[in-house]
Amino acid sequence: MVEPSNPTSELQYQLQLLSEKFAERLAQELPELASKARLLQAADHAAQLQQLRDLRDQLHKLAGAAGTFGFASIGQRAHELEQQALHGLEGPGLKDQDLQAFILQLQQFAAQGVQSESAHKSPARPKTPAKAETHLRRIYILEDEASIGESMRLTLGNFGYHAEHFSCIADFDAALQRRLPDALIIDVNLGDAEQTGLAYAAALQQRLEQPLPLLVITTEDDFATHLEAVRVGAMGYFTKPVDIPQLENRLERCFAQQQGEPYRVLIVDDDHDLASRYSLILRSANMLVEVLESPSGIFAAMSRFNPEVVLLDVNMPDCTGPELAQIIRFNDDWLRVPIIYLSAETDINRQMNALIKAGDDFVTKPIGDNALITTVFSRAQRARLLSIALSRDSLTGLLKHADIKEQVGIELERAQRSGKPASVAMLDIDFFKKVNDSYGHVAGDNVIRALANLLRQRLRRVDSLGRYGGEEFLVVLPDCPADQALRILDEIRQRFAELHFIASGSEFSVTLSAGIASTEQHALDAGELLERADRALYVAKHGGRNQVSQS
Ligand code: GH3
Ligand code: MG
Ligand code: MG
Repeated sequence: MVEPSNPTSELQYQLQLLSEKFAERLAQELPELASKARLLQAADHAAQLQQLRDLRDQLHKLAGAAGTFGFASIGQRAHELEQQALHGLEGPGLKDQDLQAFILQLQQFAAQGVQSESAHKSPARPKTPAKAETHLRRIYILEDEASIGESMRLTLGNFGYHAEHFSCIADFDAALQRRLPDALIIDVNLGDAEQTGLAYAAALQQRLEQPLPLLVITTEDDFATHLEAVRVGAMGYFTKPVDIPQLENRLERCFAQQQGEPYRVLIVDDDHDLASRYSLILRSANMLVEVLESPSGIFAAMSRFNPEVVLLDVNMPDCTGPELAQIIRFNDDWLRVPIIYLSAETDINRQMNALIKAGDDFVTKPIGDNALITTVFSRAQRARLLSIALSRDSLTGLLKHADIKEQVGIELERAQRSGKPASVAMLDIDFFKKVNDSYGHVAGDNVIRALANLLRQRLRRVDSLGRYGGEEFLVVLPDCPADQALRILDEIRQRFAELHFIASGSEFSVTLSAGIASTEQHALDAGELLERADRALYVAKHGGRNQVSQS
């Protein structure tokens, strides 16, 4: 029995409903096949060919769908009969005795009952699982050198994490008993402990139901330790002294992979039941799915839903999958969207022909749930990474100059419509040239990245963040009056000043200045708003830097 609160049981329940619906469809379709078999027997040659074509289409659909819904042997049998029908349509056609045999097999197939091989009785509908509580991301640090562990804890705290530090395995274990964190940071050499940190981490990950994101810190820089870390499933490897902003950057990447925005998937399939099933499976893997049953709606669906992956059925009545793929490819805006064909077509040559015209991949029906999820997920992931790489600043992952400027215009209009004031803040790192001169360009880059990460952590989802220039940032805060923006930016200023950077063995810290303007004062256009923020920044710089001022 599944636990009622288990979220997978809701999926099981929905899948079961779809299987039952498909069983009803089979119960209707199989007798239809029987009457078609009778017609075939009575028909003249021309009518026979027409009947065979019709049968082949129906069997083809059945072959694709039945296995997917848990009726594998029916699917397999339909596929074999489809091949026979195909044979009858090609070349000299079926000899009379073959035709009789085919009709007989078809009748036997039609006469068999509908029994799902994997399905069981409908389970009771499960209760909706409770919503996960939101909390600060919790990081546990296992580090025997207290000063290093404490400084990591403080710095990660500045970045908006809830970090806890433990000096020995016993304390670490006790904390894990109380509550699991969102990520682990483990030192390889634990002083006089019997185990190395990696051996401990390996055993720990085994024990957990789901392994946690793990970052390793160490004094060892050799290949063997790197390899051991990979085998333990580490997602990051940092040698001491640890560059914490870089480590924080990696943590962000782990979390982004874990829970980014759900991927958007468009399914085009004229078979309503199959499309519902795919969509359910993909939704269970946390994707957003839209189903389009008629290919002619493709333009509207692409523009409105903006999918990251398109799944296309190959055989549809008005327009084939490859034709639709070519139509999609006419538009350069959609070049980046991967197209995956879903098809009962197992003939490799025909698959190749479809792919040469357009499209990126093929999955054949019946499609296993995991295969479907994996294929779509990996395509979507790559498409998104590419898309981000193209539209975002590569150092910080923030919007580029033109895009953040555009955002100012958008939010300004929204503010005017809603009557809720928006603020913009222009930030500039103080004496940044000195950072580059004293510690090198790489250290300078790390400072820029650290500020970007801090902004991401501290600001809301609705806020827009952009890298305006080299070490200048622009932040747009909708529904946020100037005094509130001032408080938020001042907190960010303080946090930033508390960060410790490490380069060529020495530690340093950096400050920033910021200027704020809001839509409250006058009817402004975007250009004026930016100018005022820039002027406020100038005031902050001349007032002695490391401060926020308001226009
Ligand atoms: P101020 O307090 O007046 O802002 O002083 P500043 O030194 O920060 O100001 P300035 O604008 O004169 O210098 C900015 C420097 O930032 C110059 C440039 O070399 C450096 N810079 C710009 N982009 C990057 C980057 O992507 N990486 C690194 N490391 N440095 C950059
Ligand atoms: Mg500067
Ligand atoms: Mg500057």
